[in-house]
Order: sequence, then structure tokens, then C-alpha cells
Amino acid sequence: MRTVTEIAELRTLVAARRGVGQSVGLVPTMGNLHAGHYSLIDQARREGDFVVASVFVNPTQFAPNEDFSRYPRTPEQDAAGLAERGCDVLFLPDVDTMYPFGVAEAAQVEVFAVTDTLEGAIRPGHFTGVSSVVARLFNLVQPDFAVFGQKDYQQLLVIRRMSQDLGFPVRIVSVPIMREANGLAMSSRNQYLDASQRQQAAVIHATLLAMGDAMRAGHDRVVVESTAAAQLRDAGFEPDYAVIRRAGDLGMPDAHARNDLVALIAARCGQLRLIDNLLLDV
Ligand code: AMP
Repeated sequence: MRTVTEIAELRTLVAARRGVGQSVGLVPTMGNLHAGHYSLIDQARREGDFVVASVFVNPTQFAPNEDFSRYPRTPEQDAAGLAERGCDVLFLPDVDTMYPFGVAEAAQVEVFAVTDTLEGAIRPGHFTGVSSVVARLFNLVQPDFAVFGQKDYQQLLVIRRMSQDLGFPVRIVSVPIMREANGLAMSSRNQYLDASQRQQAAVIHATLLAMGDAMRAGHDRVVVESTAAAQLRDAGFEPDYAVIRRAGDLGMPDAHARNDLVALIAARCGQLRLIDNLLLDV
């Protein structure tokens, strides 16, 4: 595996493979990689010939009050893990490489659908930061496909929309959520949980499962949502939301809708904020 920090070198490596007819897959990440990220690499390996992973903690998707400066950075460990998984190139740019005119003057890509609710409502500007950096990565790598986790479900919808709307010739591939044995969705932020919080956090997945069961049993959506919020509070979490939405666009489902739904939770425990979701196969 080659680790590259410069755009010119990245382009040369990708162009050489493309020139011999190979397909190129991109896996964008912010690093501190875990088994969830590596499942994206595995998927890219299965689908394509040449796999590029990027590790970049993107400042523009963090609000001023968020954890950008203390986001865990473990580039050596990430490089070793990626090499082991058969990644071909690790693109490890610095902020000046990704934002040559500086963050304050950087061009932005704003998606107007799906971004004003849930994470978008709670984290203003977050998705513009995400779509802006992913658009740059698509232009720099020019992949045939890019792999994203269902863990960040709303992000996945935003990126699909951006890619289609701006005509990027990039197929968006999604990968199911990897979980700990107790159901907790893997996340770089889980390392801030102590042993008892980690146990307690299993309630998030359990609540999603209960929401699915209740919808299947025909219960009223609003009641299902308030029961879920109560269950999270009982376990010591402060929910930002525990909702059921249309899977395609996160719109409010009709009262009797039972198909194409997704349950989504964001819940806080002290300083930490966890998100998770479950597609409801009713
Ligand atoms: P991040 O480094 O948090 O920006 O995540 C990079 C990519 O990995 C995103 O597409 C995430 O959705 C995906 N990802 C993170 N955690 C998981 C997980 N537990 N299972 C599957 N994909 C994940």
C-alpha cells in the first residue's frame, strides 16, 4: 500500500490503473479506523480493482462547539490496518491540500434536500461540510464508485443526492452497520465510553429493535417514538431524537405506512453523542 499526501502523486497512481482498464473505488473516512470502516474496504475490494481510502478529519463538518481538535487521530495504526485489508492507496492529505484557499474562503457544495432535519437541524452546516469535502475527494480521486456506511444514514442520502444532482459519474455503494456483540454500533467515539457506559449504550440498538417490533405490531408511530424516547431516558441517555421516517427521503411517513421506513436515534450521554439507525423491514 502506498501512503500519499500530495494530489499529483495520487492522480498519477490512479491514472496508471485506470489506463490499464482497472476500476477504482474510494472509501472516505476520518480515520481512527475500526472494523466498521474495514468492512467498507472489504466491500470496495470485492467491487473494484484498485482501492483508495482517504483519512482526513474534515474541519468544515465540525461546528465550533464540536470535537474537531480532540477527534482521535491514529494515522500509523490506520495505515497498518488498511494495508492488512488490501487497500492500495491511503490518501492522507493535510487541511491546506484539501482547502488550498483556506477553510474560510473554500467553495461549498450545499445540498438542499434531506439536510434540514435530524442531524442537519441539530448540527447546522454539518452536511455542507460533508458534501463539500466528498465533492473534492470525488474530483481528486475520480473513482468509479465510493463506499459509505449505513451507520451515517442521513449522510448517505445527502451524498447520493449530491452525486446525482451534480452529475458525478460515481456509483454510491452502501454497507450495513457493523456492531459490537451487545449491538452498539461501532464508532470512533465509542472509545470515550467507560465499561459501564458501553453496556448502557446497548439500549440504543435495543430501542431501535423495539421500535421495529412495535411498528410491525401496528402501533401508532407517534406513540412508538415517545416510548422509545422514554426507554432511552430510563437508561440514562438524553435523546435528541428517536423517530421513524421514510427511508428514501426522511420525510414524515403517512399514518398507515409500514414499508420503506427507517428508525433513527441520536442520544447523548454526558459529553458523548451517539447515533444509530435501523431499516424497518415491516
Ligand atoms: P467516519 O470516519 O466516521 O467519517 O466514517 C467513515 C465511513 O465509515 C462512513 O461512511 C461511515 O458511515 C462508515 N462507518 C462508520 N462506522 C461504521 C459502522 N459501525 N458500520 C459501517 N460503517 C461505518
